[in-house]
Amino acid sequence: MAARTQPVVVIGAGMGGLVAAALLAARGREVLVFEAAAGPGGKIREIEVDGARIGAGPALLTLRPLFEEIFAAAGDSLGGQLALRAEPLLGRHAWADGTRLDLPVEAEAAAEAVGQFAGPAAASGYRAFRERARRIHAALEAPFLRASRPSAMALATQGGLRGLLGTSPFTTLWDALGEHFPDPRLRQVFARIATYVGSSPLKAPATLMLVAHVELQGLWAVEGGMARLAEALEALARRHGAGFRYAAEVREILVAGGRARGIRLADGETVEAAAVVLNADPSALGAGRFGRAAAGAVERTPVDRRSFSAVTWAMRATVEGVAPAAQTVVHADDPTAEYAELGYRARLPAVPTVTLWAQDRMAGATPPPGPERLLMMVNAPARADLRPEDAAAIARCGETAFARVARAGLVLQRRPGAEMVTTPADFDRLSPGNGGALYGPAVHGWQAAFSRPGARTKLPGLFLAGGGTHPGAGVAMAALSGRSAAMQVIEAGV
Ligand SMILES: Cc1cc2nc3c(=O)[nH]c(=O)nc-3n(C[C@H](O)[C@H](O)[C@H](O)COP(=O)(O)OP(=O)(O)OC[C@H]3O[C@@H](n4cnc5c(N)ncnc54)[C@H](O)[C@@H]3O)c2cc1C
Repeated sequence: MAARTQPVVVIGAGMGGLVAAALLAARGREVLVFEAAAGPGGKIREIEVDGARIGAGPALLTLRPLFEEIFAAAGDSLGGQLALRAEPLLGRHAWADGTRLDLPVEAEAAAEAVGQFAGPAAASGYRAFRERARRIHAALEAPFLRASRPSAMALATQGGLRGLLGTSPFTTLWDALGEHFPDPRLRQVFARIATYVGSSPLKAPATLMLVAHVELQGLWAVEGGMARLAEALEALARRHGAGFRYAAEVREILVAGGRARGIRLADGETVEAAAVVLNADPSALGAGRFGRAAAGAVERTPVDRRSFSAVTWAMRATVEGVAPAAQTVVHADDPTAEYAELGYRARLPAVPTVTLWAQDRMAGATPPPGPERLLMMVNAPARADLRPEDAAAIARCGETAFARVARAGLVLQRRPGAEMVTTPADFDRLSPGNGGALYGPAVHGWQAAFSRPGARTKLPGLFLAGGGTHPGAGVAMAALSGRSAAMQVIEAGV
């Protein structure tokens, strides 16, 4: 066994890596974090556009109590480090014919909004959907979300077979939503939850309704932007003695005597470690990006099981017409055609669903006069390593997306030099090894949730944390995985 005086090395300062680092350091372990980028956060990225810092990743936080638990476990308080404000709307949903639905977070206000939009039967359907999402979440929280690596068998044993079947694993999300929402627009609205984990509602199990329940617990805007959460976790880890090295790309996980023993950086420097926690996408391991010796530590995600990538436009623009909400979704005309193009055909959809985050309008804030900070996103296939989209295809996609948003009533006055595009190829550069997939393996089919790698790998001394591992993608799930990795390192006694 490696000497206890050696550090735990964490590769990557994304959400999973930051949480693992903070919790391990708080437990008295020496921790060193090596991050290829210039600062913490990973996909919680900020970029400078037209003189302003614009969030180019997730905009809102879910599962606030989880982050309170993490800060408390490290002897601190979330509220003491960050100001969080509740976002009242789950989202503004808009269609190209001008139809709109504002969906509040609060249960009865949301049911009322759905009723006004599509009639009293739709409001009942919404209440039943919410209750089903709550039951699925309750059945899965302890044996799945908080377990380090659950199996379907363990779930059936702990929760009972009826409990497992009650999570609707064998029905697709799309079919299950059809039971609650005869109105195709509402089915389209709630099917978007599959895309939060980069998956298609046509293939994802209805079990994913648990994501809807997580969101219904509340959405929080972090004062100053989500990047402040990453910075606060970094500061928390540093207060417990963790060291951070940026612009430090790890090229190899060193293996000796059948276990991970350290890392080699791009400049050739080696660092010995008692254990290594990898926060990069696990498929980068299988792709050989951390050397041949560690490549077999997890299964590589097959190309057709990758989650979606995205094209994003971070911009400063003046909005005319309908004001955007904190999150506005402009829906495609034909969702099944869009998901088929993204999934089966693996190409940019001809008519995409467009999500727009208005960063100066979070939690009811009023934007300053003039151009405001916006992030626009469409889903894209993750094939940047095999068949990257050419510049013309990205430009066409952008023209269509801006036109769709305008048809829904939000006219964005674009200005040259005030826009920055991030493509699947860019995401693949930022997080290599999976063609630009943003959420690890897709959650398609009932087994998908159980086949994600857990915190432990086949290689002793090597642990995983991040959205590509169990329990799944998204800021909160990646944080859970980081906590799980820290616990596994401690349990392994390395
Ligand atoms: C546009 C966009 C919108 C999103 N919207 C939402 C949302 O609304 N809600 C939500 O919950 N989630 C959302 N997500 C997803 C969420 O951001 C991620 O699931 C989560 O942040 C991933 O965290 P992670 O722990 O996997 O680490 P990552 O963010 O993937 O970070 C991994 C880190 O490892 C580093 N790294 C990789 N290889 C190496 C190496 N060889 N050496 C050193 N460092 C390395 C990378 O540079 C990176 O910093 C969104 C993501 C994007 C891009």
